[in-house]
Amino acid sequence: MADFIQLLPDHVANQIAAGEVVQRPASVIKELLENSIDAGAGHIQVVIKDAGKTLIQVVDDGKGMSLIDARMSFERHATSKIKSAEDLFSLKTKGFRGEALASIAAIAHVELKTKTEEEEVGTCIKIEGSAISSQEPCVNPKGTSICVKNLFYNIPARRNFLKSDAVESRHIIDEFQRVALAHPHITFSLHHNGSELFQLPDTNYRQRITNIFGGKTNEKLVPVNEDTEIVKISGFVGKPEFAKRSRGEQFFFVNDRFIKSPYLNHAVVAAFEGLLKDKAYPSYFLYLQVDPKSIDINIHPTKTEIKFDDEHSLYAMLRSAIKHSLGQFNVAPVLDFDRDAELDTPYSYKNRNAETPKVEVDRNFNPFQDERNGTNYNPGNSTYKKDTSPSWESLYSGLENETNLNTGLDQVEFESEEVTGNLFGTQEEKPEASTFQLHKKYIVSTLKSGILVIDQSRAHSRILYEELLKNITISAAVSQQLLFPLKLQFSTQEMEMLKELKDSLEQTGFIFSEIEKDTVEISGIPTLIAESEVGMLLEQLFSDFENDVPDNGFSQTDLLAKSMAKSMAVKSGTALNNSEQQHIANRLFACKEPSLTPFNKSIFITLTVDELEKKFT
Ligand code: ADP
Ligand code: MG
Repeated sequence: MADFIQLLPDHVANQIAAGEVVQRPASVIKELLENSIDAGAGHIQVVIKDAGKTLIQVVDDGKGMSLIDARMSFERHATSKIKSAEDLFSLKTKGFRGEALASIAAIAHVELKTKTEEEEVGTCIKIEGSAISSQEPCVNPKGTSICVKNLFYNIPARRNFLKSDAVESRHIIDEFQRVALAHPHITFSLHHNGSELFQLPDTNYRQRITNIFGGKTNEKLVPVNEDTEIVKISGFVGKPEFAKRSRGEQFFFVNDRFIKSPYLNHAVVAAFEGLLKDKAYPSYFLYLQVDPKSIDINIHPTKTEIKFDDEHSLYAMLRSAIKHSLGQFNVAPVLDFDRDAELDTPYSYKNRNAETPKVEVDRNFNPFQDERNGTNYNPGNSTYKKDTSPSWESLYSGLENETNLNTGLDQVEFESEEVTGNLFGTQEEKPEASTFQLHKKYIVSTLKSGILVIDQSRAHSRILYEELLKNITISAAVSQQLLFPLKLQFSTQEMEMLKELKDSLEQTGFIFSEIEKDTVEISGIPTLIAESEVGMLLEQLFSDFENDVPDNGFSQTDLLAKSMAKSMAVKSGTALNNSEQQHIANRLFACKEPSLTPFNKSIFITLTVDELEKKFT
C-alpha cells in the first residue's frame, strides 16, 4: 500500500498555528505588546486603524534585533526566550513558544523595522503569507516597530468572521488594558483612527488603575497586601459599595501576566460575602507573585490560563488577605477586641460631635385617605407619595403629566388609547374590582372565562421593551429635564460604548450635554426612570453589551431595549396599587407580543372555569 502521510509545508503549518494564536486583531496586539515588554521597552505606542483590521502598529524602544535575529524571528518555534524544556519552569518572560510572529506573518502583510543599540543602521523586513518579500537596511531608532496590515487577507472565512469595528476595538482595549495594568512603569499610548484613546505615563499601580478607569477610581480602592512563603499578594479591591454590575473590572495578574481564574475569583467573592448586593461584582486588581516553578503557563496557547501547584492554599490566602483589608479599612465590620478603637475612626470624624439622628416625617400622610381604592395620590400637590420601594416611583412618573390624577382612577384606565381589552371580557365592570396583587409579584384578574395571572415584572419589561424599541427606531421619546445635570464617570471602555450607543440612547430620552474623556454630563433622562437609577441602568447596559456583543444595528437596538427594559421594569416584591395593576394589564395587552418577555419567558397564565371545575371534582 502507498504511504499517505506527509509533512505539511511551513506556511500551512504556520496558518494552522495562527488559528490558535490569532483569533482577532486584539490577539495580535497582545502578542506584540508582550514581545515589546520582553525586549525591555520603556515606551510602547500602539496605533490601529479600523479596529485593527487594516492596520496594527506597535512601536517600542526595546533592545531591538540584529539582522539575523530579525529574519529568524518569523520562523516557527524561533525564540530567544527559552533553550530547554526546563526553562519552562523558570519563565521570566511573557513569550516562550516562538510562534506569535510566525503565525502573524502567515496571515497578514507584516513590516518589521528594528535596530539594536550597537548597530548603525536597522533592518526592514517585509513579509506576507510567510514569504519574505523584501529585506533592506533602514533608518530606525533603537527598538522595534511592527506593522501588521490586512489581517486574514488570505483567509476570507476568518476575515468575514470578524465582528463590527466597535466590537473588535473593545477587545483591543481589553487586551491593551490588561497589559498596561501589569506594567505601570512602562509608558503606553493607544490611538485609533487618529484619535487618542489612552496616554498612560510611567507611574505606580494605583495611579495606573486610576488613569485607565477614570478619576474617581482612586477613592474606591482598598489596598491588599500579604507576603507569604508561597505567594506575595498586592493590589487593590474596590469598596463593596462601588461593586459593578459587570465583571469588567476584575483582574488577576500572576507574575505580571493577566490570567483568568474562576477559582481565584471565587476566593475574592467569598471574601466579600455579605457585603455585596445581589448581582453586584466586586472590582479587583490583584497582583500575585509566585515562584515560576510552582505554576504551569503552557496549558493554553494564549497563556491566559495557568495551573498552580497549590491552588487550595492560594485560595485561602487570597481570601483572608482581602477580608483583612476590607476589615482594616473599615469597609467591613471586624471582630478584633484588642484593637484600639481610635485607630478605626476615620480622621475626619475624630473631632466631630455626634449628630442628632433625624427622623423623616412624611408630611403628606393622610390617615383619612380612602383606603378602598388603595391609591396614594396626594390631591394637595399631585406628587406621588413614596410608599413603595424607590425604584417603583419610575413606573408612573410619566403618567402625572398625561392624566389629571385628582379626578380619580377611571381616567387612568383609559390612559392608553391602544387598549384592545380583548382578554378582558368584563369591560363594563368597575375596573378597580377586577384586579388584585398576589405576593407583591402577580397581578390577578378575572376574565369572563376564568382567571388571569400576570407576572408584574415580566409584563412591565415587555411593555417597556416595545416602547423603547419604538422610541429608538420610530419616534423619539420625550425627556425629563434635570434641574442639576448628572455627572457620571466611566472607564474608557465604557465611554467608547456610550459613544457608540449615544444616538439610540438619545432617542429613549437621554440628553448628554457633555461627553469628556471619562465623564459624561446628563441633562435629561427618559421619563420612565428616576434620576437615582441612571447610573445603575447605564452600568447594566454596558455590562450587557460586553457580554452579548451585538453584531449589527438591529441587534444593537434590540439589546439596548432589552437591557433598559430589564433595568427599568418594576421588580417583584413591589406593592402596586389598583390603578398601577390596571395600567400594567391594559398596556400589556396592547403589546404586539403580550405573552412573552423580551427574554422569551411567559408573562401570564390563565386558568379557565373548566379547569377550575375539574379541580373540584
Ligand atoms: P516568543 O515571544 O514566544 O519568543 P515570538 O514569535 O513572539 O516568540 O517572537 C520571536 C522572537 O523575536 C522573540 O523571542 C524575540 O527574540 C524576537 N522579538 C520579537 N519581537 C521583538 C521586539 N519587539 N523586540 C525585540 N525582539 C523581538
Ligand atoms: Mg512573543
